[in-house]
Amino acid sequence: MKEQPVDLGKDIYLIDGYDMGFEGRTGTYVLNNKQVTLIETGPSSSVEKVKDGLEALDIALEDVKYIILTHIHLDHAGGAGLLLASCPHAEIVVHPKGKRHLVDPSRLVKGARAVYGEDFDRLFAPVVPIPEDRIIEKGEEDTLTIDQGRQLEFLDTPGHANHHIGIYDPLSNGLFTGDTAGIRYHQVEGVTFYLPTTSPNQFHPEAMLAQIQRFRHLEPSRLYFGHFGMTEQPEQALREVREWIGIFLEIAKQQDKPEEIEAKLLERIETYVKELGVPETHSLHDILQLDVRVCAMGLYDYLRKD
Ligand SMILES: [Zn+2]
Repeated sequence: MKEQPVDLGKDIYLIDGYDMGFEGRTGTYVLNNKQVTLIETGPSSSVEKVKDGLEALDIALEDVKYIILTHIHLDHAGGAGLLLASCPHAEIVVHPKGKRHLVDPSRLVKGARAVYGEDFDRLFAPVVPIPEDRIIEKGEEDTLTIDQGRQLEFLDTPGHANHHIGIYDPLSNGLFTGDTAGIRYHQVEGVTFYLPTTSPNQFHPEAMLAQIQRFRHLEPSRLYFGHFGMTEQPEQALREVREWIGIFLEIAKQQDKPEEIEAKLLERIETYVKELGVPETHSLHDILQLDVRVCAMGLYDYLRKD
């Protein structure tokens, strides 16, 4: 049987893409409106899951109108080209700085290969180029009407990446934050916590903090994370991420090599999650290990440039 997407209310559904085989890691939001709109596709390996989820919602691929990408990192957008090939009436929506990398993904692939090494093919292949005439650029103050009474608003949200947009949904008073406001870890029942994602090579702490501050001022009722799911306690989530950005930087500045940053950061986070009650054998530790490795690379890269 096909997995039923999670109903978040307000005609929003969440499909689990099982990124890297992990449950609740990376998801695709479906706004089931007159103009059916998806937010994020996940990598190509998630595309079948997305299609299954749409089928379970009784949405035909022909009815998908917009596929919005918060940013072009492959775990969020790598599957866009592959999915688009099955959605004849859909258009891709992306930050103006992201467009050319979707048309010609070679630089994107090269960058991801540098981070993921020999795991690249298993995790991300294929990355299918997207025809230029099927891409719409959206940036700060742009809007997109997907139904009567539902006009999405776009925000330019650098910090995690320069080609990053946030999407404000007035109907749910919610913000789709991509990676700008960090990752929501919810894999252990009864334990939810948040950490920033500082992956290379456009991480910028001041920009990230400024965006988080801006999100707070918008007073959203909900945040929808790229990784993963929704919170109705935005204030707490944003506070945690803000505090951790400071800790990440402090740890990174005291080390000389990315491997040292990784080790110290992991130690710190492991101490924290133990206190929260995460069992020692839980697969969440594998996810944290992966995330911390990539975060350490980004921190190192930022401090070296700085
Ligand atoms: Zn990202």
